[in-house]
Amino acid sequence: MAEPLAGRRVVITGASSGIGSATARALAAAGAQLVLWDIDADGVHALAEALDSPRQRCVALAVDVRSDAEVAEALAQSIAALGGLDGAFNNAGIGAPTVPFEQLDESDFDQIMRVNLKGVWSCMRHQLRHMLAQGAGSIVNNASISGLVGLGGQAAYTASKHAVVGLTKAAAVEAAERGVRVNAICPGAVRTPILQHLEAAGITEDVLASMSPQARIAEPAEIAGAVMWLLSDQSTFATGAAIPVDGGWTAR
Ligand code: NAD
Repeated sequence: MAEPLAGRRVVITGASSGIGSATARALAAAGAQLVLWDIDADGVHALAEALDSPRQRCVALAVDVRSDAEVAEALAQSIAALGGLDGAFNNAGIGAPTVPFEQLDESDFDQIMRVNLKGVWSCMRHQLRHMLAQGAGSIVNNASISGLVGLGGQAAYTASKHAVVGLTKAAAVEAAERGVRVNAICPGAVRTPILQHLEAAGITEDVLASMSPQARIAEPAEIAGAVMWLLSDQSTFATGAAIPVDGGWTAR
C-alpha cells in the first residue's frame, strides 16, 4: 500500500509517551520524516532511535515548550535536520489535579496554562512563520473533549483546551488563503499516564468508559489516524476544525 505521508517532514511535541508516541509510530509507518520533541530527553531519544532508519529520518530533541526561546531554537534545528517542515502535531500537554473550581491553586492554574496554552501558541507561531513563508503546511493541535464541553473539577484544564481550540480557529482563518491549514483534534479518554489526575479523584477507567456511548476508553493508537488524515492531502478542505475523536462522548 502507498505510504500516505511519504517524505512529509513533521514535528511532534510531547512525543515520548501516550498519544504522541503512538502518533510518532503511526506517522513513521506512513512514511513521514520526523523530529520528536519532549521534555523527557531519555524517553524521546530512545523512541527516535527505534524509529530512525537509513531510508527514513527520525531525530529527537529535548525541548520544554514552556520556553519560547527553546521552541524557536528547536524549530530551527528541526527544519535544518529535515531540510524543511510540512506538518506539525502540537501534542505536549499536562493534566491537573481534580479539584472544585474554588479550590484550584494559582500555581497549578499557571502551570497548566504555561504548558497547554502558551506552549501550543509558541509552537504554532514559529511553525506558522515558516509555513506561511513557504505557502504550505498543516498544523494539528491536540485539544480534548475538554476543548468542547466543560469537565467538572477540571476548570483550568478545560479552559486551556478551549483556548487551544480558539488558537486553532483564529490561526486557520488567518492562514487559509496562504496555503496553510490548522486543525485540532479533541480526544475523549485515552489510556495514557495523564489519566492519573482523574484516577486520584476516583474517576476511574470504568467511570470514564461510562461517559462514552462506546462504553470504553481508547488506546493511544486510535487517535493517531485522525492526526495522520489532517496532516495528509486527503484533508485539503479541512481547516479550522475541532474534531472529536471520543467514542461518541460529546454526541449526547
Ligand atoms: P502523556 O502524559 O502520556 O504525554 C504527554 C507528553 O507531553 C509526555 O511525553 C510529556 O513528557 C510531554 N510534556 C509535558 N510537559 C512538556 C513540556 N513542558 N515540554 C515538552 N513536552 C512536555 O499524556 P497523553 O494523554 O498522551 O497527552 C498528550 C496530549 O493529549 C495532551 O495535550 C493531553 O492534554 C491530550 N489529551 C489526552 C487525553 C487522554 O485521555 N489521555 C484526552 C484528550 C486530550
